[in-house]
Amino acid sequence: MTRILLKDQISRLKDQFGSDIAVVSNLDSLDELFRKYIGRNGLLRDLTSTIKDLSAEEKRTCGTELNQLKDFLTSKLEEAKMTLKRKLEGGEKIDYTYPFSAQTGREHPLYSTFEEIITIMERLGFEIVEGPEIEKEEYNFDFLNIPKEHPSHDIWNTFYVSEGKVLRSHTSPVQVRTMLSKKPPIKIVAPGKVYRPDTVDAGHLPVFHQLEGLYVDENVTLPHLKGTLEVLAMQLFGEVETKFRASFFPFTEPSLEMDVSCVICKKKGCPTCRYSGWIEILGAGMVNQKVFKNVGYPENKYSGFAFGLGIERITMIKYQIQDIRYLIENNFRFLKHFI
Ligand SMILES: [Zn+2]
Repeated sequence: MTRILLKDQISRLKDQFGSDIAVVSNLDSLDELFRKYIGRNGLLRDLTSTIKDLSAEEKRTCGTELNQLKDFLTSKLEEAKMTLKRKLEGGEKIDYTYPFSAQTGREHPLYSTFEEIITIMERLGFEIVEGPEIEKEEYNFDFLNIPKEHPSHDIWNTFYVSEGKVLRSHTSPVQVRTMLSKKPPIKIVAPGKVYRPDTVDAGHLPVFHQLEGLYVDENVTLPHLKGTLEVLAMQLFGEVETKFRASFFPFTEPSLEMDVSCVICKKKGCPTCRYSGWIEILGAGMVNQKVFKNVGYPENKYSGFAFGLGIERITMIKYQIQDIRYLIENNFRFLKHFI
């Protein structure tokens, strides 16, 4: 045995080892490989015994090479053992019979309410119109007959973006934009986000959603308004009673607020209706003739009604949610109630 011959033998042994280890599929056959290569009567030992007749110097060099071979075989065998163990312990095992339960998503309750209201209004012949959330100050206020000294102009009540630009504080500017761009008949609803610098509490958020309705034509009357809102309330809440109270908004004259009989206690009294049996759901009125004048419509030719409602409020009443913050927390346990 010479060193060259030994090198050749080492290389052949490595090849053989490579093909042996590639087909090992269980721990028993791996143990066999341990014994076959580095065991007491294994191939490594056979090879080691062949160098005993070499010179001292050659023995040393060949010995080093054989030790390296032993390290190589040992580490490869250990590595294979670890991989095999992991596989058998289930790390890469797939149980195709395991019960499969995927969490499916659906619309947020706020948007379900939105969709529901929009669908009802579409059935009543209203068209959907949208407008920008950054709005001209004059469309948000002046055109709607909200004078400069009105407190809603105040920076505590409206977000100012830049000179003459605000984050719209209601969806009513969409009425203005629509009336400026076309002549009646107009029959629209404008859904969207609105912004007010409110402190966050159980009933307020600085960003919320509104839906605005506007119907303008010749001879639109208060009974048209009441009839439309009654249909909306019935379809939203089921069999409820409705009542209208006089109110004030600069852009409508006369103005009114609409209450529905409490959907929770059926007028017996509960915390949601503050024991009154009634819940306020929206503000409305006949469009102020000053607004028509502002958008350039001829005097007393048209009449119309407008109404606006808060989607968060309707959602909270409909689903009996006590705190508005639940609607933005994305708490899965809460949202699961609506799945
Ligand atoms: Zn009640």
